[in-house]
Amino acid sequence: MDITLHTPLEDFPGIGPARAKKLAGLGLGTAGDLLRYFPRSYEDRRALASIQSALPDQPVCIQAMVAQPPQLSRVRRGLELLKVRVADHGGVMDITFFNQSYLKDALRTGEEYVFFGKVEVFGRMRRMTNPVVEPVGKNAVTGCIMPVYPLTAGISNNRVMGLVRKAVEACAGQVAEGLPERVLREYRLARSEFSYRSVHFPENFELLEAARHRLMFEELFYLSAGLALLKGRRTDAVGPACRCEGLDGFLARLPFAPTGAQRRVMEECRADMTSGRPMNRLVQGDVGSGKTAVAAAAIWMAVGSGLQAALMAPTEILARQHHRSLSVLLEPAGIRVGLLTGGMTPTQKKKLKQQLSDGELPLVIGTHALLSKGVDFARLGLVVADEQHRFGVTQRAALTAKGVRPHVLVMSATPIPRTLALIMYGDLDVSVIDELPPGRTPVDTFVVGEDKRQRMYGFVRKLVNEGRQAYIVCPAVEEDPERWSEGVPDLKAVTSYAKDLQERVFPELRVGFVHGRLKPREKEAVMAEFAAGALDVLVSTTVIEVGVDVPNAALMIVENAERFGLSQLHQLRGRVGRGAHKSYCVLVSASRGESAQARLKALAGTTDGFKIAEEDLKLRGPGDFFGDRQHGLPQLHIADLAGDTRLLKQAQDAARAMLTDDPTLEKPEHRAVRERIQTLFAKQADIFN
Ligand code: ADP
Ligand code: MG
Repeated sequence: MDITLHTPLEDFPGIGPARAKKLAGLGLGTAGDLLRYFPRSYEDRRALASIQSALPDQPVCIQAMVAQPPQLSRVRRGLELLKVRVADHGGVMDITFFNQSYLKDALRTGEEYVFFGKVEVFGRMRRMTNPVVEPVGKNAVTGCIMPVYPLTAGISNNRVMGLVRKAVEACAGQVAEGLPERVLREYRLARSEFSYRSVHFPENFELLEAARHRLMFEELFYLSAGLALLKGRRTDAVGPACRCEGLDGFLARLPFAPTGAQRRVMEECRADMTSGRPMNRLVQGDVGSGKTAVAAAAIWMAVGSGLQAALMAPTEILARQHHRSLSVLLEPAGIRVGLLTGGMTPTQKKKLKQQLSDGELPLVIGTHALLSKGVDFARLGLVVADEQHRFGVTQRAALTAKGVRPHVLVMSATPIPRTLALIMYGDLDVSVIDELPPGRTPVDTFVVGEDKRQRMYGFVRKLVNEGRQAYIVCPAVEEDPERWSEGVPDLKAVTSYAKDLQERVFPELRVGFVHGRLKPREKEAVMAEFAAGALDVLVSTTVIEVGVDVPNAALMIVENAERFGLSQLHQLRGRVGRGAHKSYCVLVSASRGESAQARLKALAGTTDGFKIAEEDLKLRGPGDFFGDRQHGLPQLHIADLAGDTRLLKQAQDAARAMLTDDPTLEKPEHRAVRERIQTLFAKQADIFN
């Protein structure tokens, strides 16, 4: 059979529809997919020993002859033992196989085999249990470095390895060498064919490293080049000019004195916005560090220079909250603030859009609705994106496209690990607000199990009696009977849980609930009630995750905490401790899983958002890190964004050099790169426009 990169796995011997379906579940559809199905780890099966020289409990390969016919015995139902005595020139060893009766006929007396396993030594007796076995000279599963693949039920590692071996043998050489010759030489990278072979079946660990290095490099190289194309180059762009002598006029309007960090970042924005080039700045600051004031300063400067500004928030609740607080701050200065959300009536929207395109309205706050067609600005000069991690690179680009190279200010409360920031925001300057406003009390965090539930409810009552309020966050909106039958563990569901709390647990308290499926008006009404102190306990999904500000709330309870990412939990925790009250965060988890417990404990042990983010990235990968797939980043197969940044920098340098030389990748030597980028960014069809 001729295997090419596109040969479907059904055409491989031994693969029927059922197996093909299971393999598809692993993302494996063609021979080409197998090539790129990289091992999760490797097992070194190269050590050789004789029966006599083998050290106890060290995995080794022993070549020996079957000395007597194997003996099969049935110990009890479901347990069969096969005993085989083997011998080499200097020793004898007894081998026991459990439930592998087929070996009885496969192992022929007088023939030599290789047995890989650990030798147990009992006085002069030597034994092995369940070794890997194959005929001498085959070297498929013994005497080599074994790749270990991610698997699924019903598909064994040997099966995947066998398929990969066929694919590699047939078509490792068919993959076009995508990296330009110059890049291969400059960064001393192994060739494509060698790398695909060696990453699966390495001769030794040095060669494996070389192969992995090349494959990681190429992945980061295509990614960097693609992102650079997406972002466009801004080196010689002209930005909307701002005139701003100083910030004193703005600071005088703030109801508080800015922290040193806030001041510094405001100044950085001022320098950018008055430089004549477009600002492209990312402001990172932990929850509660006061990013809104920085955004307000930038808006004040833009509007003061006759430009329009737009602030995009990830949720309706947050957009409304920004609208409220910015109105209070800016309307007295004569800056009208508009609001555009999906929940508005067509008439309201129409009026607002008119005012924006006329240039009559200087500032609009909104959700994704701002991105929609028909929202046009007369002179959009500043785009602020709050809590950027909820938006993808592409969405940011869509909003900026509504102005002529407007200034861009991106605010993120999720400290983004350095590697990821380099990729996501390679074109942004970064400011960090590394100081909290004075008077904040650190939040005490506890991890509790079901056994402490009643005590926890008691704690809620106690705090409410002291005049405080509490959040209770759940992962699910409604109970889903279908998932129950699948045995999915008991997830606290917002609606039923809130009802239960009100009726049975806290009849004396005022309990409300809010989740993403409520109408925007309903959500807003409940949030307003809670903010006004008319509710004691707010049960919700993560709609309250970002930005919501109720200083009187002093307790955050998270149910099924193991279901959340660490950064997300950190964000949730940031909802409390915003006022002068001592605040608490309780993470409830019935999960006894060690890693779940360790993760939650780690969170309880630190308040450093960067540390938490790094940890999250390591544990969950960049996709999950952003909460969904909206980030628009292609899936990486081998490169590890949580790893060290050196390789990424090299790949970025190489990509940049290539694009400087050939900005649209028209040259023949870049055809392969161009194709690879197009596949990688299939979702952004217009990447080369
Ligand atoms: P972030 O968006 O960074 O999470 P906010 O901008 O919402 O934080 O600010 C959190 C709270 O702290 C708000 O109530 C805000 O008014 C207040 N605040 C911000 N800066 C200061 C400051 N320098 N001094 C006192 N309070 C501040
Ligand atoms: Mg905020």
